[in-house]
This record gives sequence, C-alpha cells and structure tokens, in this order.
Amino acid sequence: MTSMRVVVAGGAGFLGSHLCERLLAGGAEVICVDNFLTGRPENVDPLRALDGFRMLRRDVTGPVDVAGPVDTVVHLASPASPVDYRALPLETLAVGAWGTRRLLELARRKGARFVLASTSEVYGDPQVHPQPEGYWGHVNPVGPRSMYDEAKRFAEALTTAHRATHGTRTGIVRIFNTYGPRMRADDGRVVPTFITQALRGRPVTVAGDGSQTRSLCYVDDLVDGLVRMLDAEHPGPVNLGSPRELSVLELARLVVGLCGEQVPIVFVPRPPDDPSVRRPDVTLADEVLDWRPAVDLADGLARTVGWFRERAAGPPPTLVP
Ligand code: NAD
Ligand code: UDP
Repeated sequence: MTSMRVVVAGGAGFLGSHLCERLLAGGAEVICVDNFLTGRPENVDPLRALDGFRMLRRDVTGPVDVAGPVDTVVHLASPASPVDYRALPLETLAVGAWGTRRLLELARRKGARFVLASTSEVYGDPQVHPQPEGYWGHVNPVGPRSMYDEAKRFAEALTTAHRATHGTRTGIVRIFNTYGPRMRADDGRVVPTFITQALRGRPVTVAGDGSQTRSLCYVDDLVDGLVRMLDAEHPGPVNLGSPRELSVLELARLVVGLCGEQVPIVFVPRPPDDPSVRRPDVTLADEVLDWRPAVDLADGLARTVGWFRERAAGPPPTLVP
C-alpha cells in the first residue's frame, strides 16, 4: 500500500470509521479529523489504543494542519443521510465548500494524494439509467436535497480546478448507497430504519408505493474500492457501488424476513425529489481499480441485522478484535 500516512476527514462516521480500521490493519498511520457533527466517538474509541491512530477533533471548515508528512488526504466529512443534511443545510454546504478547500490546501502543502468522497446524488433524479460517470445529472438546485447535491457538485468542481491550477494529485469517487454496521439507528436512511423498526416489532415504513429503486453496497466492499482509489493516481470521477438494484418494497420484505419478526409493512408519503431509480454503471471501477463488490445483499443485510441486534441486547460490541 502506498498510502502510508493518511488523513481521514470524517473518520468518526459510518464509512470513515471502517476506512480507518482497514487502513490501520494494512499498516498505515491514520489521522482521523472529525467534529462529531453526525459521527460518534464510539465508532473510533477502540482505535485510540492503537499506535498508528490519532484523533483530531476539528471542524474542517476551519484551519486544518497536521504535523509531519502526509501521503493521502481523504475527504469524507459531510452529513450524508437525507434526514441529517436537511437538518444541517448550512453545515452541509459549508463542509462541501470550505471543508473541501481546506483539505485540498492541506494535500497541496504536503504533496499528498487527495480523494473526495462524492455521491450518486450528483446525478439527482436520473434520466439516464444506470448512471455512468459521463452523465451530468438531473438536480433541483433549490429543492429539499439541494444543500447536499450542490455541495458535492461544487466540491467536485473545486477538486477539478485545484488539479488543473495547482497540479494537486486529486481523485473523485461517487459513492452509491452503502450500508452496514455502525450506521446510526436514527439517521433516517432506509437500511437502519427498516432494521430498527423490524427488530422493535414496529411497522416498517415504505415511502410511496415502494417501487423506487436503490442499489445497496456492503460497507466492506465499498471500503475496498475506496482504498484502491487512494492508492491509484486516477482523477475520477469513479462510481463505487453495487449494480444489484432492487425496489424499496423488495428491500422491506427482505429485511422483515431476516429480522424474523411478524411486522406489517405500512406505506407513508414519499419525500419530494426522492430519486425514482438509482444504479451505478461500475465499468470504470472494474477497469481502473480492478474492483467489483463481492458481498451478496442477503449476506450483508444479515450481518447488519446481527450488529443491530447485538447492540439492542447489550453494550456496543468491541470493534477491533
Ligand atoms: P456519516 O455522517 O456517518 O459520516 C460523516 C462524518 O463527517 C461524521 O463523522 C461527521 O461528524 C463528520 N463531519 C461532518 N461535518 C464535518 C466538519 N465540518 N468537520 C469535521 N468532520 C465533519 O456519513 P457516511 O455515511 O459515513 O458518509 C461519509 C461520506 O461518504 C460523506 O461525505 C458522504 O457524503 C459520502 N457518501 C456516503 C454514502 C453512503 O451510502 N454512506 C453514499 C454516498 C456518499
Ligand atoms: N425510504 C423508505 N422508508 C424509510 C426511509 C427511506 O421507504 O423509512 C426510502 C426513501 O424514500 C428512498 C429510499 O428508501 O426512496 C432510500 O432512502 P435513503 O434515505 O436511505 O437514501 P437516499 O438514496 O434517498 O439518499
């Protein structure tokens, strides 16, 4: 692995904490920078005992400096669930704009590779399906998701301009819906919501008629793709996600079955601008990163249900064996 000393901005979040763990396991030194806006200290607490790990509590919209050399800066800092970013619209825009600028400058000063965690949301409610990287998207700039979509689109533009102007060694990944252990039960995203509802014996709330689709990637697969991108020189954007598409109603049935509870599925109003379909074209990731997801959906969901079940039963499990 070439990414030996890595700054992980947003490292105390769902994806970030898994990435920190994976990098440490691969022998890297990790500096996690997070202000715990939507992440949790307990996601990284078990890592604090490890020699290669350092936690910096910082808001990356302000000055970010790190002593010593840095090989890679990865920018995952941002509210990411629709419930979070709608509750934190100004913070979401700020971290996409000023946060990206601060972290690009850090990478430039250190001569480091910079990788931006962008999102499938840059495609908005897509009119091209599945979505290849060449698709420009269909985004409402003043809609209820605009603070997130436009923050990420701006972050991509800023990253591209930094590369062109300063020669910063940048990369952009567009991450599609990812799920797994350590998602917050209250983050509003579909997988933790359905699992938590089913495990508590409550009705599972499907938005609209549930015919809208998503393609769900297990966190371990996603982190594997991300690490490959850190170690590559490709500028991207590169889609990372699962090509296995299913409807939200199918997902609800699958989760209810895995939880083994007899709970009803109820239909609730669908939020405005909720994308109707979403599936990545992952040809580029296959070609340039030799990456494709490996974990089957039922298997990944069963692992995730197991994690939520354990937490419901007792104290949080130890994250590092
Ligand atoms: P998350 O909310 O669990 O993690 C985001 C982390 O960023 C949190 O720990 C939060 O405290 C931190 N953060 C936010 N603003 C900050 C700031 N100003 N300064 C320092 N830290 C800050 O979300 P996640 O699901 O782990 O997503 C991580 C990244 O991946 C996000 O950038 C998100 O847009 C992107 N992404 C995630 C998915 C997904 O399905 N999980 C899909 C597409 C893109
Ligand atoms: N959804 C749902 N019930 C819920 C939460 C979400 O039916 O309790 C739907 C949501 O309307 C969307 C899909 O699940 O169609 C995925 O939503 P999520 O918030 O996980 O992510 P998004 O892909 O919309 O960013």
